Amino acid sequence: MKHTLEATVVKNAGSHFLLSPLPEWKPFPAVLRGKVRLEGSGSTNPVAVGDRVVCEYEDKPSETAPALIKEILERHNHLVRRSTNLSRRAHVIAANLDRAVIVVTLYFPEIKLPFLDRILVSCEAYGVKPLIVLNKLDLYGVEAADEVEHFRHIYEGAGYKVIGTSVKTGEGIDELRSECSKGLSLLTGESGVGKSSLVKALDPSLSPKTGELSAVHLQGCHTTSLYEMYPLSCGGFMIDTPGLRGFGLSGFETEETAAYFPEMLRVADRCRFIPCTHTHEPGCAVKEALDRGEISPERYNSYLGMLEEDGKFR
Ligand code: GDP
Ligand code: ZN
Repeated sequence: MKHTLEATVVKNAGSHFLLSPLPEWKPFPAVLRGKVRLEGSGSTNPVAVGDRVVCEYEDKPSETAPALIKEILERHNHLVRRSTNLSRRAHVIAANLDRAVIVVTLYFPEIKLPFLDRILVSCEAYGVKPLIVLNKLDLYGVEAADEVEHFRHIYEGAGYKVIGTSVKTGEGIDELRSECSKGLSLLTGESGVGKSSLVKALDPSLSPKTGELSAVHLQGCHTTSLYEMYPLSCGGFMIDTPGLRGFGLSGFETEETAAYFPEMLRVADRCRFIPCTHTHEPGCAVKEALDRGEISPERYNSYLGMLEEDGKFR
């Protein structure tokens, strides 16, 4: 007997997928044949983790008789991977995200604000809510207290939530867990900032569980490991982005960049000239806000860097 079911993609291994009828965690294999239309977009898209799909199967889906993905339901947002070869083809990493948890450290590894700002701009451009996690607080000591304060001042001032955490002392872990206990979170950040350690702190039962899932369902597929989500014992779902070096920014124009800096967007309608690049124009409200200290020089520099970098590729 043929069944039709709405489910969420929880693992994407290229041509093989695992689906689960979330919030229930009962992953089963599925495949995609040919191109499937993404509802409402008029175009075909590769299926991504987090996509809600309609699938069909006979009896019980298995490795030998996987469910067939018939339709991808409309996404409320998605993130794409930064393309390395400057090709225009965007690779969708994940869809329907409730937040992106961006982990950074002041040191070990040393923070690169333009990199963080680029991720934030991608999140703004694609409608994904960012949550900044400043990890390894235990390492900064009293000497770095001012720097922690300064970091918070920049990003809370811009309008972002910042949670300070330490896997060593447990500081901030409960707060992070409560943020992640609802919906789907994407975990990102440079290698070495403590993403895996944080996940283990959030849910100590986790790593063996994901390992088991891969072993059972993905023989032969793990080498092309793409993205997968896993359930957290606190209730939410998490997607790791191993080795990700930032998100892509395809699909919008350089002139729109300032609109993805919330603190610039707030004042930009008061610029004398519209459109304004907020670089050299007289009567620029963004530069006035910068002079008054309402926009941080660090964020403004990242903005200039992005304009310059984008200019090179046009
Ligand atoms: P990932 O590459 O982002 O997944 O980072 P890992 O979780 O592998 O952590 C990298 C290193 O940082 C490991 O040696 C961890 O033990 C260490 N680490 C992670 N979180 C903390 C923290 O809060 N405090 C300190 N002192 N070390 C941490
Ligand atoms: Zn301006």
